[in-house]
Amino acid sequence: MTPISFNDLNGKVCVITGGAGVIGTAMVKAMASVGMKIAIADINPETAQKMANEIAAESNATVIGVEANVLDKASLEKARQIINEKLGEIDILINGAGGNHPTATTKVEQMDEASIDHLEETFYGLEMDGFDKVFALNFKGTLLPTMVFTQDMLKNRKGVVLNISSMNSYKPLTKIPAYSAAKAAVNNFTEWLAVHLAKVGIRVNAIAPGFFITNQNRFLVLDEKTGGFSPRGQKIVNNTPMGKFGEPEDLQGATLFLLSDISSFITGIVIPVDGGYSAFGGV
Ligand code: NAD
Repeated sequence: MTPISFNDLNGKVCVITGGAGVIGTAMVKAMASVGMKIAIADINPETAQKMANEIAAESNATVIGVEANVLDKASLEKARQIINEKLGEIDILINGAGGNHPTATTKVEQMDEASIDHLEETFYGLEMDGFDKVFALNFKGTLLPTMVFTQDMLKNRKGVVLNISSMNSYKPLTKIPAYSAAKAAVNNFTEWLAVHLAKVGIRVNAIAPGFFITNQNRFLVLDEKTGGFSPRGQKIVNNTPMGKFGEPEDLQGATLFLLSDISSFITGIVIPVDGGYSAFGGV
């Protein structure tokens, strides 16, 4: 009997948007470890190239950095051309670019009598510009790269798309309505697209990470002065049955599992990787 492995991934070409970020880097390392060829497509090309060089040196895998803005179709098409030239046809796409921003964040979690006099700290004070940017980055920034980077998969009638959702997609967290709504839309789109592409050989799934300390949430979960948890950070730990934040490496198993032919009958699902957060009722 042939042992079950991730060998089918060896030599496969993957594009990962936002791949220079904290979570993206862990995913790139996982893919490099099984011999995949990876293009880190990021709005920040210097960081992408630096990351690519480091991981290539550590792993002997082929990893390149490419400039791409997930909100700009022309930039994605240019990136695709470069990837095709340097690595060949694209087999796999990970939509990793995303995140929240302070301009789309309310200052208070819930309104009370005191906040009636400080509406700027509530839902009523949200700036539409910040809201639109966060919603677009997470939702349109998943949809557009999928249109561009699945073209080779469509031609070959085989491919995998992996979206990065969030715990916010199941139950919105306080303060970040644009991010929550966009990630809920990513789950819905994951199901929609999985159905749409099921008969042409492209699988579409998502991972919903729990809580990891990264650039996008550091300002919310850590106390700048003490370096310890903010009250919100402590609340997250208290509501995660494993009692801790995750390490980006904790996402590697679910990533390879969903990319590999091991899961060739799996499409349209969202896997939580969250230390039990989504299973816990809080009491
Ligand atoms: P990060 O900020 O470390 O990385 C995000 C990367 O995306 C950066 O390299 C950035 O340059 C890139 N990027 C930003 N805008 C872009 C654009 N327009 N085009 C191309 N690239 C762009 O964040 P992260 O925590 O590693 O987030 C990765 C994904 O995981 C995001 O979708 C995020 O929403 C999701 N996520 C994170 C957490 C968490 O706890 N950190 C939890 C759940 C989901």
